Amino acid sequence: MPELPEVETIKEALSRGIGRARIDDVVVRQGSLRQKVPDDLAAQICGALIHQYRRIAKYIIIDLNNSKSLVWHMGMSGKIKLSDKPPEKPEKNDHIIIATSNGVITYNDPRRFGLLICLPTIELSQHPLFAHIGIDPFDGGLTPQYLFDKLQTKKKTSVKQALLDQSLVAGIGNIYASEILYRARILPQRSSYSISFKECRALSEAICQVLQEAIRAGGSTLRDYQKPDGSFGYFQHQHCVYNKTGQACPDCICNAAKTGGIKKIILGGRSTFYCERIQK
Ligand SMILES: [Zn+2]
Repeated sequence: MPELPEVETIKEALSRGIGRARIDDVVVRQGSLRQKVPDDLAAQICGALIHQYRRIAKYIIIDLNNSKSLVWHMGMSGKIKLSDKPPEKPEKNDHIIIATSNGVITYNDPRRFGLLICLPTIELSQHPLFAHIGIDPFDGGLTPQYLFDKLQTKKKTSVKQALLDQSLVAGIGNIYASEILYRARILPQRSSYSISFKECRALSEAICQVLQEAIRAGGSTLRDYQKPDGSFGYFQHQHCVYNKTGQACPDCICNAAKTGGIKKIILGGRSTFYCERIQK
């Protein structure tokens, strides 16, 4: 699933590749996504100019000059493809094709968990999709004190599950949660309540660093994720613990053959990776 760095990468690619274009045509070939694509989507957006691209958590927001915004989520397997002209023969699972004055955006989503809806821009913050979303790692509000206060209220949850809670910090997914805790040297299974203020300092720094590095690298390539230009991100090569069961972590001096290396456990139903030598 695209996580925050992937969504940020897609948003940047749209901004660079399409920019402030006029929407000329919309073809919905398959509208049954997680939520139904509105039947009157074309009527709502054709002729409008794209004003800006934003990201809220893992949603891409495209603000138009007619006081409406497109809200786009890539679901589990959604991809955005950019091209100069509409595809002559759309590929399988090309569900939505938006032609603009500066190129064509094609949305492909084999599993159809994605979402594309259109809302009045002023209603965005009150919409159920966004009403409970926590602060964004890059908005400057992610202080050690904020994390400490929030984690204290989550007694029964592991710190790793707390990081996945979108009402706490928006946009951290399963891969980066393991990477962030490794960077902060904190064991993922520890209770949120036990994380000290000092550790919250390390954690807030790790969240920003890991996500920023991933954005710079163009997001991860895992299963379904592909950048809009068709190339693959390469942050996976920098993963320290994710999917590396049994291997030595980059900072370990121990012999992985003897210690068993990186461990995998399941927390809240999700795979979780850590090094028990480095993380406390
Ligand atoms: Zn290690």
